[in-house]
Amino acid sequence: MHSDVAALLAVQDDDVAIHELEKQLAELAPRVSAMAAERDKALTALEQARHAAESEEKRRHEVAERVAQHRAVQEKNQSALNSVTSMREATAATAQLEQSKRMIDEDERELAQIGQRLVEANHLVDERERTAADLESAQSQARASLAADQQKLEAQLAEARRVRNEKARAVPRTLLTRYDRIRSRKRVRAVYPLRGQSCGHCDTMIPLQRRSVMSGTGATEICEGCGVMLYASE
Ligand SMILES: [Zn+2]
Repeated sequence: MHSDVAALLAVQDDDVAIHELEKQLAELAPRVSAMAAERDKALTALEQARHAAESEEKRRHEVAERVAQHRAVQEKNQSALNSVTSMREATAATAQLEQSKRMIDEDERELAQIGQRLVEANHLVDERERTAADLESAQSQARASLAADQQKLEAQLAEARRVRNEKARAVPRTLLTRYDRIRSRKRVRAVYPLRGQSCGHCDTMIPLQRRSVMSGTGATEICEGCGVMLYASE
């Protein structure tokens, strides 16, 4: 094998390793976004529970105010009844008093229902606060471990790229450019040995004359079938 080809194969080995590291690094990203989505979901659920509890609280306040108004009316009706001077007035005042009493009873039933719903709504808020807090503590550990993995991979990548570029200096410029161009077409490997009379990648037959040149001079040839760079390995 020609020394240029040997130097190129060493670069290719490094590129394959670099590709693997890049893949591992890229795989971390979906884990990060999955965690963010899970956290958003928990926080949205918490927000909804808080909003529901606030609505019940507001409703309770409104009904309590209404009770106070109805009680004032009731007191007025009571004093009206106390100062009646005729049977007709007494009948009318009694009817009004009974009506305001009914309204207050109704308000109080509603207040009791709201109180019950408020207890449930507050329980839900507590529960979702705990869920969100548990998730946050679990995620902060996971995030730290992901960040450590990421840093480690980035350091390995930087070193692998440095070594690769060092080795690439031993490869003639034109050969390296051709190799890089083939790899840029989303190929992990660009250089393959001849396998018998055929391309080692796609099995397309290579004419005898071209094979003779390759084994005689150590030159590389582009496969017409798949576009990879071929060399004679013997
Ligand atoms: Zn081929």
